[in-house]
Amino acid sequence: MAAMTREETEALIQEVLEVYPEQAKKDRAKHLAVNDQSLEKSNKCITSNRKSLPGVMTIRGCAYAGSKGVVWGPIKDMIHISHGPVGCGQYSRAGRRNYYVGTTGVNTFGTMNFTSDFTEKDIVFGGDKKLAKIMNEIEELFPLNKGISIQSECPIGLIGDDIEAVAKKANKEIGKPVVPVRCEGFRGVSQSLGHHIANDAIRDWVLDNNEGKETAYEISPYDVAVIGDYNIGGDAWASRTLLEEMGLRVVAQWSGDGTIAEMENTPRVKLNLIHCYRSMNYIARHMEEKYSIPWIEYNFFGPTKIAESLRKIAAFFDETIQAGAEKVIAKYQAEYDAVIAKYKPRLTGKRVMLYVGGLRPRHVIGAYEDLGMEVVGTGYEFGHNDDYDRTIKEMGNATLLYDDVTGYEFEEFVKKVQPDLIGSGIKEKYIFQKMGIPFRQMHSWDYSGPYHGYDGFAIFARDMDMTLNNPCWKQVKVPWKTAESDAVAVAASA
Ligand code: SF4
Repeated sequence: MAAMTREETEALIQEVLEVYPEQAKKDRAKHLAVNDQSLEKSNKCITSNRKSLPGVMTIRGCAYAGSKGVVWGPIKDMIHISHGPVGCGQYSRAGRRNYYVGTTGVNTFGTMNFTSDFTEKDIVFGGDKKLAKIMNEIEELFPLNKGISIQSECPIGLIGDDIEAVAKKANKEIGKPVVPVRCEGFRGVSQSLGHHIANDAIRDWVLDNNEGKETAYEISPYDVAVIGDYNIGGDAWASRTLLEEMGLRVVAQWSGDGTIAEMENTPRVKLNLIHCYRSMNYIARHMEEKYSIPWIEYNFFGPTKIAESLRKIAAFFDETIQAGAEKVIAKYQAEYDAVIAKYKPRLTGKRVMLYVGGLRPRHVIGAYEDLGMEVVGTGYEFGHNDDYDRTIKEMGNATLLYDDVTGYEFEEFVKKVQPDLIGSGIKEKYIFQKMGIPFRQMHSWDYSGPYHGYDGFAIFARDMDMTLNNPCWKQVKVPWKTAESDAVAVAASA
């Protein structure tokens, strides 16, 4: 299908909105836009970070998911208590593929589910005593833990438990950090506020408490922290390799495969490197204000963006590091040229629609372009306008932007735009696969990865080719189309 003009994209949005009642139409119209690269600010064209409409299918998560599932959960040497009924923790357990090194249940706890398992009695009489008891049990059963975080589920805020008091008392008793996080699921409009609350808890209960303490290692002029890389399928490891090869020393990883000691040490680094801006910009801005540590956002998807980012990072340091960046780019050139030579002929001209979270709706565009592909529609689950500001220039003119897109809207856009590939989440996957459209799960990399760094790019290219050029799509019989054609045949023969 040829690229759509601005008028065609506008007409498509109007057509899709037509089905809604007047108020809903007015509301949703603000979240759907035709991209215009000439704009500097996205608030001229799109609204974001607003409450989803009741009755539409949204794929957003809750504040608890943003704190426990994204920011805190991957800190591997702490125990994160899902405080409240058992379901929130159990259904979100280990789904994000945050890889880590360690012995689970001994010195690392990332894939385990710790819960206070609230019942009716706890709701009526309060859960503070139970929480205190759990922390003692944790100390007995898992003595090598380096601290505890309390991740509040909805009921905790509703019944008014004083988890801060319990945390302070436990901290004195066990002599380790105990961090209460007020990330009850009902707060805010999506998981985004959970990220912010989690960042604030790190500020107040980790960084502030650690001020004035000595580091156990010698500080170097090349110390950096990787922030907002959750090590999905090993992403942070692939990124770290490049940074260390150019001469930097990564002393902290937030939070994939990370530890509380790394968090505590971060205020001594020379530069904070932010991969997922959305979920961690708050703490980076805080460290800039309080400790004068500069930060930059970088993108390690695909060779074009990797080279751009390595040079941008190197510009903060001396000539040794700048030469190191060039060496890294040159070292991997033969490898990524070979990947492009192999896959570009198979993927050139293919069109992609994305709908993901945090940074990916804009960060992966360059990697697709390195393979000759074009992203023709993109949107964020829980983005804010500063995310869309950063997206406008990455997307082509007259392409589609959709914020908190509803299930109905996404399906209708896909039917009209007819992309060759969709990259989105598990909730969309089977709908589009049943429609016979190649699909990659772009939250967990569909059980693959890493996708960051040069090594990750080779895996990314292979996965896109394997999905898109798979002969299975020609065999897919779309169930509702088959039923329709059966009904027509029955009617015709009657
Ligand atoms: S919204 Fe509340 S009850 Fe639902 S998963 Fe989130 S914390 Fe749990």
